[in-house]
Amino acid sequence: MADNKKNKDARRYVALECTECKTNSKVSHENYFVQKNTKTTTDRLELNKYCPVCKKHTVHKEKK
Ligand SMILES: [Zn+2]
Repeated sequence: MADNKKNKDARRYVALECTECKTNSKVSHENYFVQKNTKTTTDRLELNKYCPVCKKHTVHKEKK
């Protein structure tokens, strides 16, 4: 199976974790996995997402 993989390393999955959980407990809550293009997006991702632990929308930051 020889596919043309032009952008094989540009995209990777990153974990987003709730910033409020992070301050309230020592357990990390990686709630979301998103695909990120590392060539076009060099900054850390920061998204407003629903956290099932906090039961509300919170800021989720990319975990490194
Ligand atoms: Zn949370």
